[in-house]
Amino acid sequence: QIDSTVSITVVGASGDLAKKKIFPALFALFYEDCLPKHFTVFGYARTQLTDEELRNMIGKTLTCRIDKRENCGDKMEQFLERCFYHSGQYGSEENFLELDRKLKDKEVGKSANRLFYLSIPPNIFVDVVRCASRTASSPTGWTRVIVEKPFGRDSQSSGELTRSLKQHLTEDQIFRIDHYLGKELVENLSVLRFSNLVFEPLWSRKFIRNVQLIFSEDFGTEGRGGYFDSYGIIRDIMQNHLLQILALFAMETPVSLDAEDIRNEKVKVLRSMRTLQLDDVVVGQYKGHTRAALFIDNARWDGVPFLMKAGKALHTRRAEIRVQFRHVPGNLYKRNFGTDLDKATNELVIRVQPDEAIYLKINNKIPGLGMRLDSSNLNLLYASRYPREIPDAYERLLLDAIEGERRLFIRSDELDAAWALFTPVLKELDDKRIAPELYPYGSRGPVGAHYLAAKYKVRWGDLISQYS
Ligand code: NAP
Repeated sequence: QIDSTVSITVVGASGDLAKKKIFPALFALFYEDCLPKHFTVFGYARTQLTDEELRNMIGKTLTCRIDKRENCGDKMEQFLERCFYHSGQYGSEENFLELDRKLKDKEVGKSANRLFYLSIPPNIFVDVVRCASRTASSPTGWTRVIVEKPFGRDSQSSGELTRSLKQHLTEDQIFRIDHYLGKELVENLSVLRFSNLVFEPLWSRKFIRNVQLIFSEDFGTEGRGGYFDSYGIIRDIMQNHLLQILALFAMETPVSLDAEDIRNEKVKVLRSMRTLQLDDVVVGQYKGHTRAALFIDNARWDGVPFLMKAGKALHTRRAEIRVQFRHVPGNLYKRNFGTDLDKATNELVIRVQPDEAIYLKINNKIPGLGMRLDSSNLNLLYASRYPREIPDAYERLLLDAIEGERRLFIRSDELDAAWALFTPVLKELDDKRIAPELYPYGSRGPVGAHYLAAKYKVRWGDLISQYS
């Protein structure tokens, strides 16, 4: 599309997310020649900055990939020359009209396409969308808006936000971002399952005993305490990131790889799920730690517990999916495992971060005379197999939004179904003022989580020690 321009306006350009993620991702795309020939990047916020000051601010955060350092400095210069700034209020149509004039000045070709990235607190989403759609929409091309979480704090507020956004935008202009969906190993989930004969036939209650979705951070809520206290980890991690992974993991084969076909299957999973019950939730506190047991009441997953755990200030940092398979019926080698059959469970682990990897725990004979068994890993470590640096999730998602690919963005009916699962329990936790179980910083989290898992005859995979 040589005869068109894409203008990307980062609203909230003075903020943390813009500096840490959005501008660096745009630069990485430019460096990889993935952006259209004619593009401009505008920062918009209330802070008074000149174009030069914005460039200095962004310049400090740009990096080139380790394996691509050629012309790095030149490329940065070329990118920064295309970056501009406009200072304005979020609720001022006049200020957005000024932005519109500046955008027009830079636009070349027959059509002008505009992407707005709302990197701002949610209470001003609607103001910005109203002003931008009235005075800064493209008259000659598409106008799209990327919205960052939080998308409300329960079913009602999320529904209100959707309705308000839709007064100014159509559904296909709204790109609700969940950056977990842009992570390499989450994207790979469908490839792993649907392109390998050895996995798909096992992907059901017949062979899978339980699925665990684990998110832990080894630091607390430093700097985000206020936001976190009022929002909590169920809303911050489970209702969106972990649930999105679950839906992708559990969906039926989509008709095609088209966005609507995939999102149709994901929404079916969400709507087949049982609303979360208070009895199936353990809340802990250093600053946030929750475990929850979820069920999908459909033919494929009937009775299989999907356990989620998310916490901060724990002993490790990781995000992973653990699939525990059933025990081998009538196992010939039963006596070699001792009394603890869980230790012999085949387990598929998909480590989303850090140190991306896929590994499968299998039982193997320890070489030598005699018959001793060992739990070993068939191991795909990304760093050794694919030494190239993995692009950040924001790169993938920004590129998709520019190209109009909606597969990795959340449709409003998915969002409604996701909130419907969690809203009652969130309300009950608030109303009954359920006291969290306290746990020390850097520990393994609340003990109650083990009781919850035991209720469904599950042991957390990351805590099972190996035998030999
Ligand atoms: P931020 O730094 O708090 O805010 C971004 C910009 O918005 C600020 O630079 C400020 O710009 C403006 N702003 C801040 N508070 C405001 C207020 N009360 N009223 C009006 N304007 C205000 O936020 P962020 O960390 O960049 O995150 C942006 C959005 O992404 C948020 O909705 C957040 O929930 C979401 N998010 C962030 C992260 C992350 O890692 N940081 C991750 C996922 C999602 P001016 O004062 O210059 O106008």
